Amino acid sequence: MDKDLFAHRVSVIVGDITRLEVDAIVNAANHSLMGGGGVDGAIHRAAGPELKKACQHLRDTDWPDGLPDGEVALTEGFKLPARYVIHTVGPVYAKTKDKSHLLANCYRNALTLAAEHDCRSIAFPAISTGIYGYPFDEAAKVVLDVLAEELPRNELDVTLCFFSDKDAEAFEAAMQEVL
Ligand code: ADP
Repeated sequence: MDKDLFAHRVSVIVGDITRLEVDAIVNAANHSLMGGGGVDGAIHRAAGPELKKACQHLRDTDWPDGLPDGEVALTEGFKLPARYVIHTVGPVYAKTKDKSHLLANCYRNALTLAAEHDCRSIAFPAISTGIYGYPFDEAAKVVLDVLAEELPRNELDVTLCFFSDKDAEAFEAAMQEVL
């Protein structure tokens, strides 16, 4: 991991992702794309009802069976300060099965899709670490691996938006181990 690249391009913050003025925010959605709890619910409330309509359109067109784990789909941000929402579905954590490649796909595919839409900045919540139960330190290592691989391939500024000081501190501890 290139420490300087990371320092220049990645911000770790604690806050509400729906308030961020970035080109794209990532939503930890569920397969249905129809909204849910946690960050998904917060994004739908802040974006307004047009977001649900746009998600329904995605279901009617590209994703009739729902969005699979690790895949991404883009909508406008509507009432959000962010121009786009990139919806992705993180894996549900299972002790007996390594799903880290699916979590990595969420981050990797979101970065690629954002770059394809000429975004310069993107913010991620801690995908899968809420209702889906992914342990924080394990998720942090996946995120760091993907960023190490992907940052040199695009020009995106990345914000990792945590919802509590505790989560951000756990991430930073994992980061110290890797950097
Ligand atoms: P998942 O189903 O992928 O686990 P959750 O929404 O339950 O998704 O949680 C993902 C992470 O998002 C958790 O760490 C949770 O604390 C955090 N989170 C919840 N609301 C917000 C918000 N408004 N902004 C940023 N992060 C949030």
